[in-house]
Amino acid sequence: MKTHVRVLVIGGGVVGVSTLYHLTKKGWTDVALIERTELTAGSTWHAAGLLPLFNMSYTVGQLHKYSVDLYKRLPAETGQDVSFHVTGNLRLATCRERMDEYYKYCGTANTIGVPFEIITPKQVKELWPLLELGGSAQMAPIIGALYHPQDGHIAPADLTMALRKGARSAGAEIYEHTEAVGIERTGSGEWRVRTAKGGDITAEHLVLATGNYARQAGRLLGLSVPAIPVEHQYIVYDESPELKAYRQGGGRELAVLREPDTSYYLREERMGWILGPYEKGAPARFADGVPEWFGRSLFPGDLDRLVPHVEAATRRVPALEHCGIKDIVNGPIPYTPDGSPLIGPAWGVANVWLNEGHSFGITAAGGAGWQLAEWIVEGEPGIDMLAVDPRRFGAYTGKRYLVKKNEETYRNVYTVHFPDEERPDARPAKTSPVYDRLSARGAVWGQRYGWERANWFAPPGVERRDEWSFRRANYFEHVGNEARLMRERVGVIDLTPFTKHEVTGPGAESWLDGLVANKVPSKVGRLALSHALTQRGGIRSEFTITKIAEQHYYVVSAGAAERYDSDYLFKSLPADGSVGLRNITNTRGCFVVAGPKSREVLAQLTDTPLDNTAFPWLTAQVIEAAHAVDVYALRVNFVGALGWELHLPIEYAHGLFDALFEAGSAHGIGMVGMRAMESLRMEKSYRMWGSDLTPDYTPFEASLDRFVRMKKGPFIGREALERQLAAGVPNRFVTLEVHGVTDDDPLGNEPLFDQAGRMIGRATSGYYGHALQKSLAIGYARSELATPGTELAIEILGQRKRATVLPESPYDPENLQLRS
Ligand SMILES: Cc1cc2nc3c(=O)[nH]c(=O)nc-3n(C[C@H](O)[C@H](O)[C@H](O)COP(=O)(O)OP(=O)(O)OC[C@H]3O[C@@H](n4cnc5c(N)ncnc54)[C@H](O)[C@@H]3O)c2cc1C
Repeated sequence: MKTHVRVLVIGGGVVGVSTLYHLTKKGWTDVALIERTELTAGSTWHAAGLLPLFNMSYTVGQLHKYSVDLYKRLPAETGQDVSFHVTGNLRLATCRERMDEYYKYCGTANTIGVPFEIITPKQVKELWPLLELGGSAQMAPIIGALYHPQDGHIAPADLTMALRKGARSAGAEIYEHTEAVGIERTGSGEWRVRTAKGGDITAEHLVLATGNYARQAGRLLGLSVPAIPVEHQYIVYDESPELKAYRQGGGRELAVLREPDTSYYLREERMGWILGPYEKGAPARFADGVPEWFGRSLFPGDLDRLVPHVEAATRRVPALEHCGIKDIVNGPIPYTPDGSPLIGPAWGVANVWLNEGHSFGITAAGGAGWQLAEWIVEGEPGIDMLAVDPRRFGAYTGKRYLVKKNEETYRNVYTVHFPDEERPDARPAKTSPVYDRLSARGAVWGQRYGWERANWFAPPGVERRDEWSFRRANYFEHVGNEARLMRERVGVIDLTPFTKHEVTGPGAESWLDGLVANKVPSKVGRLALSHALTQRGGIRSEFTITKIAEQHYYVVSAGAAERYDSDYLFKSLPADGSVGLRNITNTRGCFVVAGPKSREVLAQLTDTPLDNTAFPWLTAQVIEAAHAVDVYALRVNFVGALGWELHLPIEYAHGLFDALFEAGSAHGIGMVGMRAMESLRMEKSYRMWGSDLTPDYTPFEASLDRFVRMKKGPFIGREALERQLAAGVPNRFVTLEVHGVTDDDPLGNEPLFDQAGRMIGRATSGYYGHALQKSLAIGYARSELATPGTELAIEILGQRKRATVLPESPYDPENLQLRS
């Protein structure tokens, strides 16, 4: 066994082996993998081998697409067959919401180039003759289906062996029966891994790909990895006489069938079937770690949980009735709270990488290995990986949270994934101090990064409930009223979840300046919207940087980016001690007070003059407001109105909140929720980090040129921007008015087309602009098609609609209200 390697992968399932394979593809051949027993001994050996291309996530969709393409090439490359049956994959729909989901998915699929078809019930029957179309009281009729002709199923162990062969032939080492039992940092900053059979391996980089063991493996490094497995079972049937007759009569292998509305998948297996449901009541397992006795075992089958799905599948495919059950496979399947894997850097420790939490790991392994290897070798992934970045979760994902959330995610794998869905389990986890006050005002709650956030406020007499939809929903009118309140009078938004850091010390300014593309303010009381870029020039973070005092900066970023940004900032700190950094997210609250009357309201609470000369737009002051002291008042906001963000020491939240409402009562003050904020920011073309601003686009593509100072000196990403400027900026940010919308406003991830019908970009967000009374989308189009007045088309829920490029900031383009 080698004693030193560049990268050591821990875990020999399909994901670990794929990571090893892809590292060698990137030219890193001094790499090794250790496996506690034998390759595939974890979840990989008992997986059903399905490879669904379907995924609502832009990122995960790209990973799955890469996998499917790779698995088709692997046999020729490695000489190892992988039993890839390209049967196609059919997802049935029996209700309109399901069809809407498929149409929404089509937008994502189009933008990433996944081939698919929406087909009619008649075509379903032609593809799958053994299926009943339904329409009786017992069985809902099929109204359409989504068909992927290019995926199917594979043999997971053969796939792992092909990847192993590819990795080993390039020089990678694999050591089985070698368990990692201890990890420590060496004096030179490498990782020394102690193995159970004796002997250490030291590595520059460490990858954890331990599947169901992620919690244990994480603990070796002091990490609480947010992945806990859930039971998943499928039934293996004996030979089916009907299927046999169909195949012997010349019928081709049937497509993998999914009926999400009754929550099961079905595929052929040796003239019989494999039927796998996603049932209610499947328990999370191994919350405290996998016990020693489990090894390569399975759980006993739980037929009671399966019965409703077996009945539904048998109604749809009567041939199931005539074959016996051969086996039930019930194994642990790794899960995370949102069902997407954890691929990327671990937080708080350098050169430790996670490839964990894979619930569709056979499908994802290729793409996950590809991008993680890219990240390790190049320092950055090649595509936007925010949706799978392990740091999208925070410290709030404790054991009980994970158990509840993962069980909830599992039982919802096949429910309709509405864009405005808010799942109820493990809530509330984190609340702002004024949570009860907002509840008393009718808050209808959502959740992000563990925080409860009021999505909208139900007026008295209106039920506090969302009717989730892909279209305008029950809250449309109330959100509109909140948006108008902000435009016409004064509204309050509780943005306490913002991520907040304090940067101090003699090196603070120059350190921040090297991290972001904008000029960091050097005058006290100035603030700047600034973007930290990747080496490739993509946007990794957005910060509002305020100079509070000499050698003292206050840095605010998206609430959901707390661990992501904090980890980046801490890891980037200079070693010379010249910069102090504190994450103060939980010590300050934030109320946005905005609207034409906001000055009059706030003036009642503070002695600080608020007029334009004393307190101009884009400046900040430390003020007293009511009984709150040391309030950082920033004259900026995300809604495009006269107003202030009040960042207050959190202990004053109740007092200041009550004082604001008392002072504002004469001006018609009211609460405004997240959905109204979405409408308001769309009218101002304000880009949201994570959806509109991602590593896929540079600040020039995002048309944020005014926030980039190319001449200020070196900053991360500058060389890439220089290259882009020299070559020409390929895409530009656009704001679009979408015509002919009745109830299907754009929501993001819709493809854009030119007049000739060619795809030329994508919308990254969309909403109805209540003040403008227009359906709006923002996103990216090829530069030559981004000028105002250009006519484009956008595809929303399967329909192409006319879209006109508007000048930026269609509401108050000269920012007169902001400056008023
Ligand atoms: C019943 C069932 C059906 C499924 N069907 C499908 C499907 O059809 N399609 C699909 O895409 N996915 C499916 N899955 C999910 C799929 O099995 C997993 O997503 C995938 O196997 C995860 O692979 P992995 O490499 O991450 O983990 P694993 O395969 O579990 O591998 C992790 C490995 O790490 C090793 N290890 C752990 N700790 C250490 C240590 N300290 N030192 C050394 N080695 C260690 C373990 O022994 C293990 O071999 C199914 C799962 C189940 C349970």
